[in-house]
Amino acid sequence: MDLVDSHCHLDVAAFDGDRADVLARARDAGVRRIVVPAIAADSWDRLQAVCAADAGLFPALGLHPMFLDRHRPEHLDMLERRLQRGNVVAVGECGLDHFVPGLDPASQLHYFTAQLELARQARLPVIIHARRAVDEVTAAIRRVGGLTGVVHSFSGSGQQARALWDLGFMVGLGGPVTFPRAQRLRRLAASMPVEYLLLETDAPDQPACDHRGSRNEPGFLPTVLEAIAGLRGEDPGDIAAATTANAERLFGLPA
Ligand SMILES: [Zn+2]
Repeated sequence: MDLVDSHCHLDVAAFDGDRADVLARARDAGVRRIVVPAIAADSWDRLQAVCAADAGLFPALGLHPMFLDRHRPEHLDMLERRLQRGNVVAVGECGLDHFVPGLDPASQLHYFTAQLELARQARLPVIIHARRAVDEVTAAIRRVGGLTGVVHSFSGSGQQARALWDLGFMVGLGGPVTFPRAQRLRRLAASMPVEYLLLETDAPDQPACDHRGSRNEPGFLPTVLEAIAGLRGEDPGDIAAATTANAERLFGLPA
């Protein structure tokens, strides 16, 4: 099995005690490559250092909407310079969150739009967080134009997903799809065109239902794969091959 975890926060403190063991377990589970998205500018150095230490880790740099109070206008200039330096596979994680209270919508949209423009300028895909904001995110993607990317941990409707596919965007599915109660998401996973699908853990968050309440890690990605393959009535090996090819294509990963 050759899987790509398209969204794992491997740089965060939750993995400081055992990051090498976590990576070894991921490899044992067939997860050979991991895209590591950023949350704020003060974490970029550390994230890039973690990724530089292992050939299977690929950094994305961005300003996550849930950490709005840590972002400053100059961080956008810093981001532009870092993207020019290279060794970054995507801009993100960026986006809009209208679920968590206290995040100013206008300020979120400002940072999000600016990052979309930087991604287009750098010809990099974007990794997008959209919570209660899929339509607004889709409108921003359309407005800026010329973009590729993924809406990670997608939780919208089939119609909202189709609007993203029409723009050439993918959707990332992870732990939530393993919960029997997530009926709309499971219907989407069962029926969607596989060419728009990426697998993710979002570790250390969003564990699958068999690890509910504990720290998530990239080695648990096969649980997500098995759940999606089961819902589709397809061979897990076929879904693995297709989603890995999708991730290679979107992020320009070395084969
Ligand atoms: Zn994330």
